[in-house]
Amino acid sequence: MNKPLFSFEFFPPQTPEGMEKLAATRKQLAALNPEFFSVTFGAGGSTQERTLETVRQIKAEALQVAPHLSCVGSTRDNVRSLLQTYQQLGVKRIVALRGDMPSGMGSIGEFQYANELVSFIRAQTGEHFHIEVAAYPEFHPQAKSARDDLANFKRKVAAGANSAITQYFYNADSYFYFVDECRKLGVTAPIVPGIMPIVKYSQLARFSDMCGAEIPRWMRKTLEGYGDDNESVQAFGLDVVTQLCEKLLAGGAPGLHFYTLNQAGPSRELCKRLGL
Ligand code: FAD
Repeated sequence: MNKPLFSFEFFPPQTPEGMEKLAATRKQLAALNPEFFSVTFGAGGSTQERTLETVRQIKAEALQVAPHLSCVGSTRDNVRSLLQTYQQLGVKRIVALRGDMPSGMGSIGEFQYANELVSFIRAQTGEHFHIEVAAYPEFHPQAKSARDDLANFKRKVAAGANSAITQYFYNADSYFYFVDECRKLGVTAPIVPGIMPIVKYSQLARFSDMCGAEIPRWMRKTLEGYGDDNESVQAFGLDVVTQLCEKLLAGGAPGLHFYTLNQAGPSRELCKRLGL
């Protein structure tokens, strides 16, 4: 079996100290030789400058970088100019998203859904970028039905996406079912599972409620039982997530994308246990 490809996701830090810490995290993770590092982008352009600065720094270290680009609240002119900047920087991969409009923030802008952004990127830049899109094995919380969500995913790939990264999940069957359904619809693009290490239960529970990722009851109960004992939370998390990754790779997942939360430790330990 070929060695699976893997990648790491960061969010752009808010302070110079955060930037320094992230550079140290990056150094540790770069030693594992990932395919690329991705950098998130706040909807409505709220992190645009910080995302760009983080992307520049990663590029300056001669590492592969994939900026996320969320289109909600944005204009065509704004996206066009950002794409030009990325092209000039030599960026070759983009994660194209709709994003979620922060409440109380202005109009939704000139793009309604991610497939429109994918079409726009292709129309503006041809085949320059490898375009990743988001996929939801447990389905997107706003989708009218599972079928609609699959049709939407197919639309994004038809618009020109090369591959997908999933929302995180802890139930491998949801991923295998989703991939099977996509293949039945004729979607052949690689679908890489997004992996969320478990570091702090309260934070994970909050994220999961927001994005509609299920924490299975047996995991929730076990994690709740540890209370503030973060050491036990992390030890349990490492065991469970390692097993999940092993199952995914054995079942044919083409790679893994780690949501690092800007910390090297948990993702590095997972990679070590997985022999990556
Ligand atoms: P879309 O694909 O547009 O789908 C959004 C919803 O609309 C779905 O329910 C879909 O079924 C429905 N839909 C799509 N097209 C249509 C249509 N034509 N008619 C009716 N319904 C339709 N957010 C950020 O703000 N910044 C980030 O950097 C970021 N990175 C992410 C990375 C990954 C790997 C993932 C999985 C998510 C990320 N997100 C990020 C979160 C993401 O922006 C949200 O999940 C958002 O709610 C949906 O974005 P999308 O690109 O999947 O949207």
